[in-house]
Amino acid sequence: MTPKDIRRLLDRYRITAAKGFHLRDHDPTDNGGDLVNHSESEALLADGVRRLAELQPLLYAQDSWTMLCTFQAMDAAGKDGTIKHVMSGVNPQGVQVTSFKQPGPEELAHDYLWRIARRLPERGHIGIFNRSHYEEVLVVRVHPELLQHQHLPVRRNGKKIWKHRLDDIAAFEKYLSRQGFVVLKFFLNISREEQKQRFLARLDTPDKNWKFSSADIAERDHWDAYMAAYQDAIAATAAPHAPWYVVPGNHKWFARLMVVEAMVAALEDLGLHLPEVSAEERARLAEGRRKLEAEDG
Ligand code: ATP
Ligand code: MG
Repeated sequence: MTPKDIRRLLDRYRITAAKGFHLRDHDPTDNGGDLVNHSESEALLADGVRRLAELQPLLYAQDSWTMLCTFQAMDAAGKDGTIKHVMSGVNPQGVQVTSFKQPGPEELAHDYLWRIARRLPERGHIGIFNRSHYEEVLVVRVHPELLQHQHLPVRRNGKKIWKHRLDDIAAFEKYLSRQGFVVLKFFLNISREEQKQRFLARLDTPDKNWKFSSADIAERDHWDAYMAAYQDAIAATAAPHAPWYVVPGNHKWFARLMVVEAMVAALEDLGLHLPEVSAEERARLAEGRRKLEAEDG
């Protein structure tokens, strides 16, 4: 198994258009079949993490392109663990991680992209969104009563609101891409049964109890509505400049491998290199060296 093989596998999960995308065709238990061997997965992940760590300083030094990775998933799908492992080799100074929770009063007093725009990474940085603007067409769509807190004028809260939001999100990401953002969106796709097992593990293991929330159990009743919302959201916003990766999530090791490779592939595609040092700059550097060497002692 080489990174090239992983790349080929990754193509299966990369969605760039609505046409032909059906979430139900994506198997959460998929682990690449014979292609990847679990025993070599640790070494492959370490290799991916290393390559990402090598590319990140180039992104930082060129100070122009920006990477934005959005993570969406049902509860217990492994967003936190994936982010932790994939980013483990990268210099924290070049990364900005934001977890988007239920919006508070100040956030609800603004349009929904306000808080998102405030957390966009600076040029040369990698931004990680743990949940994102997509919550506005996922949880809010599944629980439309949440719209009542959003202070929308009645005339702007009509039947087409979800289509309009999806159009606006697609347009926002197009804008970001034109501004030099590399936009990647990950849906960690676990099965309902796998979620149940992970919740049970949280209940069974005292160390994991803190992660358990009874509200999460209630959300399971809306599983199908969430899947329908994900189907629409992914189809409406998948684009070559802002692809979705529908990553099989039941095998955590496999999901992590796919995510790190997608990030590495996107950065490699930019052809990053260290900024060139001009002849004048080189002369200044040589002058600096002469001065240092001429110092006493
Ligand atoms: P964990 O793995 O720790 O549970 P989490 O991302 O689920 O991570 P929580 O604090 O449990 O974090 O939950 C955040 C909650 O906020 C989620 O239920 C999410 O749906 C909700 N949320 C996020 N954005 C919005 C939004 N714009 N409107 C309403 N709810 C939102
Ligand atoms: Mg949660």
